[in-house]
Amino acid sequence: RDWDAAVAAIRSVPLDAEVQLICHVNPDGDALGSMLGFALGLRQLGFTGLRATFPGEFDVPEPYRALPGADLLVEEREAYAEPALILIFDVASESRLVGLAGRLDGAAPVVVLDHHASNTSFGDVNLVDPAAVATSVVADELLVRLGVELDAEIAECLYVALATDTGSFKFVRSPSVHTLAARLIATGISPGEIARRIFDTRPFGAMKLAGEVLGRALLEPEAAGGHGMVWTYATNADLERHHQRPYVLDSLIDPVRGVAEADVAVVVKELVPGEWSVSLRSKGGVDVSAVAVALGGGGHRLAAGFTAYGTPGEVIAQIRPLLDANLA
Ligand code: 5GP
Ligand code: MN
Ligand code: MN
Repeated sequence: RDWDAAVAAIRSVPLDAEVQLICHVNPDGDALGSMLGFALGLRQLGFTGLRATFPGEFDVPEPYRALPGADLLVEEREAYAEPALILIFDVASESRLVGLAGRLDGAAPVVVLDHHASNTSFGDVNLVDPAAVATSVVADELLVRLGVELDAEIAECLYVALATDTGSFKFVRSPSVHTLAARLIATGISPGEIARRIFDTRPFGAMKLAGEVLGRALLEPEAAGGHGMVWTYATNADLERHHQRPYVLDSLIDPVRGVAEADVAVVVKELVPGEWSVSLRSKGGVDVSAVAVALGGGGHRLAAGFTAYGTPGEVIAQIRPLLDANLA
């Protein structure tokens, strides 16, 4: 981890320089929260040329639209063509930058903040901590080293990021996570109000859609060397029928992973017609990161994902043998 190089890269550009922040496609709470929290920190330091973006359709999930710093978000095509500095958040590999990956070839130094074990070190400076539960942990440490003072707006962003990737603090592995949470909450933010707004508020149609998607789940007890797999899928037609945006599918993996009879949970989501975003979860019997990497994706040992084509049945057929090959 090259903290000094990252600090130097940021300090070496003038305060009015064009600074481009980027997070991964189909951004989640950690991607947007760590990026916007860091952007607000840079704004506090006096940077005036900040723009934040992500690849693909400019469709910020409704719960994140009111995040502090959301005013810095621009569409992909409004991203700086030749910025002085590029900062990248929660991105394990260039494929997660889709059309924006080409921007990294310019003169600007690329600083990557991430926490995926599968990170490919594609930046010029790579702050990648696989032990961190969220990219916001890395972002917080760099903000501290830059002398940024935590305020309630930065804290709200970092808190949303932290709560997202820890499943609202269910997947915490070290006391330092709660120490960070305590520092964030001490700025005056309201965890209960944030949790309700971000995680517990969805349109009525999203609940109806969830009912259908969960209702068609299948259990395969023999899969994953007998550890069992449970899987379901949601099509683009499902989304359209219920007038819902793709982000509402992201939380469906949570009830699926809770099935007692299966170690592995899979949700296959058709976010754009013909293209499936696959969420994999394990209780420990299988390294799903290895499965995802084998299929062109990435992630963590117990939570990973990849992009796939074909029918949901064909996607699952690709996964089955890899589960047996990657028993933990
Ligand atoms: P989720 O299932 O919540 O979308 O993602 C779980 C984990 O897998 C996250 O750490 C995410 O970064 C990673 N992941 C999900 N989809 C992809 C993908 O298409 N490619 C890569 N490299 N990682 C993914
Ligand atoms: Mn993410
Ligand atoms: Mn993350």
